Amino acid sequence: MLLAEEIREYALDLGFDGIGFAAAAPFAGLAQALQEREEGYRWAGEALQLNRAADPQNVLPGARSLVALIFDYHKLSFPPAFLGKVGKAYLARLYPGKRRIFGSRVRLFKEFLEQKGMAVGVKPSLPDRQAAVRAGLGTFGRNTFVYVPGRGSFVALTVMAVDASLDGALHEPGSRCPEDCNRCIEACPTGALYAPFKMNPLRCIAFQTFCAGNVPGCPPDIPPEIREKMGTWVYGCDICQDACPRNRKRLEQKLPPDAYLVEIAPHFALEKLLNMDEQFYRARIQPLLYGYIWEKKFLQRNAAIALGNSGGEAALPHLAKALEDKEPLVRRYSAWAAGRIGGRKGQALLERQLRREDDPEVLSEARAALERL
Ligand code: SF4
Ligand code: SF4
Repeated sequence: MLLAEEIREYALDLGFDGIGFAAAAPFAGLAQALQEREEGYRWAGEALQLNRAADPQNVLPGARSLVALIFDYHKLSFPPAFLGKVGKAYLARLYPGKRRIFGSRVRLFKEFLEQKGMAVGVKPSLPDRQAAVRAGLGTFGRNTFVYVPGRGSFVALTVMAVDASLDGALHEPGSRCPEDCNRCIEACPTGALYAPFKMNPLRCIAFQTFCAGNVPGCPPDIPPEIREKMGTWVYGCDICQDACPRNRKRLEQKLPPDAYLVEIAPHFALEKLLNMDEQFYRARIQPLLYGYIWEKKFLQRNAAIALGNSGGEAALPHLAKALEDKEPLVRRYSAWAAGRIGGRKGQALLERQLRREDDPEVLSEARAALERL
């Protein structure tokens, strides 16, 4: 059996839904785009080293092929309690953690390649979308996601560089979006999708939910203008994928329920997230979420924003409690949320905070919130 065929069969046997091979040539278009949009992607140079990985030789000297794997993560239904709060791709089970099935799948696959005598490179992370398209597995949508025929964009991509020649393809980036379709761009609430195939991460809700203040090189804070547009998202955002007609069939499909997600959904009530303690976070929340968020205060911050955007006066008692949190970050965003809800009760909450608060940043947020009322 040909080596490529053996690899393909093993990948499918492990539970991947597709595999393709691409030539390990540099991604010149990506390198150029990163350079042109330096401001939006400066953080990626530091955190992800995207610019280095645009040339697979920096990942594996002597790389000849890229192996791109697809995993379809929309085989079970997403409980309504998570919709509009957590992006479907942000669950830990989709990431290669050591104690995760997906991580074991990726590790076994890598070991298989090594047993076949190949050197394998995975770090810094290769541009998975570009590699999958180059391998012919899918095409780009104008929302920058990769669409796989018959599956849509709800696919996790994994890419490895190897030193073997696997007759890798060099498909040009293409798109099968209907010519007149602009729905993803129109649906994006923040303008992060500012042109076809162009996304500014600094305006993206998904990026802001986990990067701001948390990842080196990322902005320290979520700008107030973005907070207002975040709706109820606390981790990720699916709006531009959910709006897409190329995903419609998959989204309308009747899928079996995801028993685990259904069971844990009540833990994700916004008021619970806002006022959770460390034990609740470690035991109930963190294991479900891929570890982009390192400290619970960032998820509390996101819950405060979500409540400010959606909770109305009923959220004020929860925000009042959060205004006593020991983390200034949580108090600060709760002050913003109280101001966003406003009314007499929101105003009273902020005035009370001004009388007892001693953190300068919380004080200034509360003052700014009062001025906006
Ligand atoms: S994930 Fe959300 S914020 Fe980001 S580009 Fe898509 S719709 Fe816009
Ligand atoms: S919404 Fe329309 S333009 Fe955007 S990715 Fe889907 S098909 Fe393409």
